[in-house]
Amino acid sequence: MTDGSSPEMYRGVKILHDPVRNKGTAYTEAERDLLKLRGLLPPRVHTAAEQELRVLGNIREKPTDLERYLYLVALQDRNETLFYRVVMNNIEEMMPLIYTPTVGKACQEFQHIYRDSRGFYVSFEDRGRVREIMRNWPHREARIIVVTDGERVLGLGDLGADGMGIPIGKLSLYTACSGIHPTQCMPVMLDVGTNNEKLLNDPLYNGIERRRVRGEQYDELVDEFITAANEQFPGVLIQLEDFGNSNAFRLLARYRDRVCLFDDDIQGTGAVAVAGIIAALRITGSELSDQKILFLGAGEAGIGVADVFVAALADRGIPAARARKHCWFVDSEGLLVADRGEVADHKLPYAHDHQPIDNFVGAITALKPTAIIGLSGQAGMFTKDVIEAMASINSRPIIFALSNPTANAECTAEQAYGWSGGRAVFASGSPFDPVELGNKTFVPGQGNNAYIFPGVGLGAIVSRSRKVTDEMFLAAAHSLARQVSDVDLERGRIYPPLSRIRQVSALIAQDVARIAYDNGLADREEPEDIAADIHQYMFQPVYPHYA
Ligand code: NAD
Repeated sequence: MTDGSSPEMYRGVKILHDPVRNKGTAYTEAERDLLKLRGLLPPRVHTAAEQELRVLGNIREKPTDLERYLYLVALQDRNETLFYRVVMNNIEEMMPLIYTPTVGKACQEFQHIYRDSRGFYVSFEDRGRVREIMRNWPHREARIIVVTDGERVLGLGDLGADGMGIPIGKLSLYTACSGIHPTQCMPVMLDVGTNNEKLLNDPLYNGIERRRVRGEQYDELVDEFITAANEQFPGVLIQLEDFGNSNAFRLLARYRDRVCLFDDDIQGTGAVAVAGIIAALRITGSELSDQKILFLGAGEAGIGVADVFVAALADRGIPAARARKHCWFVDSEGLLVADRGEVADHKLPYAHDHQPIDNFVGAITALKPTAIIGLSGQAGMFTKDVIEAMASINSRPIIFALSNPTANAECTAEQAYGWSGGRAVFASGSPFDPVELGNKTFVPGQGNNAYIFPGVGLGAIVSRSRKVTDEMFLAAAHSLARQVSDVDLERGRIYPPLSRIRQVSALIAQDVARIAYDNGLADREEPEDIAADIHQYMFQPVYPHYA
């Protein structure tokens, strides 16, 4: 068999219940005889293209996005190849269903919509035997783990064990957007409890019934998990996802040089937003070193973007200390200034000398930024006054409303274009439809990490890199920005269309792998042709042939 298994192993109904090998009605006549499937399937043999048509018809008939999500999850559990074929061939339609914004709704409802096991749960109750339970994972090899503790899911707060939808969705994107093989992807929920009272009072909640574990016990569990993961799957890439910011920065700092690990909320967001800025400069006609960015929100995402931006300026010879002065922050306490009092470690480098300002418009007027980036998780914070203030200072104001899901965006695409008289260079975290203004159509770009992490992960996995470095994220940002065409820019779009995501990811992966090989980080020999090597690795949603 082309997948290495013998017909005896998968005879009869068993193969129909194996999502990796199932072809449904696409088994050929010969395969039906060989695998003893005759009688178990309707007699008509369908092509994968016909199956895709049926799936699309079903999805489009569903009344809500949550039901579409559930249908897609069921398809993934039944026939993975067909699931990925549908997602990849219709990525613009499917991405918002399997990821933000619908995945956010799914996580909020997870305890009620739960149907089948997917992913791997490590709970606080499992401490001391994490290595042992990890052997229960049904696949021989994991090359990538996306792990969350569900404390800060999208912009939705603490969803505890119900945050499992996020690693599942992210890993589906890894396969769809960059071809990591589905059986090499391991979604993990580190269940350390929740402080969400609603969940604790819900008898259907799936997580352990306790408030969040903190301090030493928390760190010990994380450490046990990371050690066990590396023992079971040596060199596995670990992506930290949706941890609360009291843990995210700490864990990243602790593990980034010890194992192959990154935090997507910090570093992935950083790279995607900086790619957007670099592309936007081709519209505004200005230089990177002339930019002053005012952030709304100084959490993981905001600080992550500023760090990559500073790295981009440093790469052009501007010392980091000076480069940081190009980034200013307003958080829930107003403008981040040096004499604010106690400031969290991750914010300190951006606490500049200035008198306090308690509102965002005031900060715009005082600082005159060229760009504002919303990563506050707070809807509607880019008011008409904010956009008008930006438009009065800049001929082409850069306005990124990156908070997810859609309902949390700082402003809508229509507001950004409308209030700036069509002059804003706009991007959002979740998708917005094109906007008609006068006789022009504006196509907003989606500044979502999905443009970055699949390619970075692919490059790190294929090169077997021992680390994921800041240099790789900066390279990914440049790589993504380079792939924005003049046609995209003419329509106002500062990211390539999602339909090109596989090519985009493959090119990012090449740049990341090149860094791993050049810097002695790769645990394998450099192949003759990095591009061909990466393409050869990439999973294609094509049925195996049984003969
Ligand atoms: P976080 O909790 O670490 O940080 C939130 C920040 O917003 C904090 O600094 C907080 O002080 C600030 N804030 C809250 N209310 C505010 C207010 N009223 N005024 C000013 N500041 C306020 O969260 P995070 O991980 O940084 O994520 C923030 C948002 O960014 C979320 O909505 C998340 O979905 C989104 N995000 C988007 C992407 C993307 O790809 N587009 C990636 C990562 C995060």
